[in-house]
Amino acid sequence: MTTKERYEGVINYFKTNVPIAETELHYNNPYELIVAVILSAQCTDVRINKVTPKLFKDYPNAEALASASPDTIFNYIRSVSYPNNKAKHLVGMANMLIHDFNGVVPSEIDQLVKLPGVGRKTANVVASVVYKKPAMAVDTHVFRVSNRIGLTNAKTPLQSELQLIKHIPKEYVATAHHWLILHGRYTCIARSPKCDVCPLTAWCQYFKTTILNKTKPQPLLVTKEKMAKKEITAKKISSKKVSSPTVTEKVTKPTVKKITSDKKTVAKPLAKATDKTTKFVAHHTKLKVGDKAPVFKAKDQHGNLISSVNFKGKTIVLYFYPKDNTPGCTMEACSLRDEHTYFTKQNYVVIGVSADDEKMHKKFADKFELPFSLLADTDMKIIKDYDVWGTKQFMGKIYDGIIRTTFIINEKGIIKHVITEVKTKEHAEQIMALN
Ligand code: SF4
Repeated sequence: MTTKERYEGVINYFKTNVPIAETELHYNNPYELIVAVILSAQCTDVRINKVTPKLFKDYPNAEALASASPDTIFNYIRSVSYPNNKAKHLVGMANMLIHDFNGVVPSEIDQLVKLPGVGRKTANVVASVVYKKPAMAVDTHVFRVSNRIGLTNAKTPLQSELQLIKHIPKEYVATAHHWLILHGRYTCIARSPKCDVCPLTAWCQYFKTTILNKTKPQPLLVTKEKMAKKEITAKKISSKKVSSPTVTEKVTKPTVKKITSDKKTVAKPLAKATDKTTKFVAHHTKLKVGDKAPVFKAKDQHGNLISSVNFKGKTIVLYFYPKDNTPGCTMEACSLRDEHTYFTKQNYVVIGVSADDEKMHKKFADKFELPFSLLADTDMKIIKDYDVWGTKQFMGKIYDGIIRTTFIINEKGIIKHVITEVKTKEHAEQIMALN
């Protein structure tokens, strides 16, 4: 199949079946859109749509926003990710709009990217959505889906953008951005694309080479996992706090050298990673579907004693995460928060667990308006019972810590699902897809 045929097939499918595809952010004018897009970085559209009505009511234009202080704006957006930086960016952006652009949101990419908080992706969204320009904003979904299908062969978002623009007819570029985002959000999801229900298989390179051809060697990540299993002997759980992981052994060489540290800091890098972005986990819980879930009991961020025995008749989403206030854990918590109404309606109770104490949990829960309990498992009893402590590597560092894992426990206390490949930003959707 030629590249031209692939593009034609994909575009024709979307033109026919998804003729209207638009941003899910709520806005009424260019000013509101640029504010919403700046806020939406590393956060869900659902959450942004919850905070912007009050913000837009009190700060209806750039002039009003420019007169505010970042501290004041922080209070409006405290439940989105990175509220401190975003508050500064919004006020800075509004000031530049007033002083350099007469209060009008510019339409050119090179002018838009001068505004604080506006990168190339945000600029492309504004240019395409507001000014109907053939600009392609490449986010994580567009990047992944385009590469998987074979529309692009890109290593960076900019390469992806240029390749897509080169092949997509101008009149469809802006809509194609939404087609690819929606397809990535609901079908071609990152961890496990739903190829069995995908309408694009006829044109998809990934489907042809990976799904149809099962004999193809697995990617590097799997090789690393196998290597890790062979070469790493996971250290026994330390009685020390999680926030001070001690450890471990070299992965890249057979010589094993233990390093310990008493400092309550991040783990020491032990091996020079050849690929710094490689991530693997050398341990997964031994608990499996069908096992009786261990009874748990601990105080939450309000000092309430929470016990699994109190939730008989409910489904428990028990999620273990490494640490409060870190980017991945924040995205995961916000994803579960945004779908909390859905979970409640389904008779689910969501409970987070980490080794942080009640005070840390309270700060984290207050900051992001988390409506569920976070258990302070400071003695790591629950973590041990659920076997989610182990050796992992991230960004070239190898250390022991909590392995991000979610257990879905049915109303009879039996484990119904174990999710070890947690997709933090869309974890709620990941759980909802199991039903
Ligand atoms: S066939 Fe699979 S990999 Fe290809 S686009 Fe569809 S979901 Fe994604």
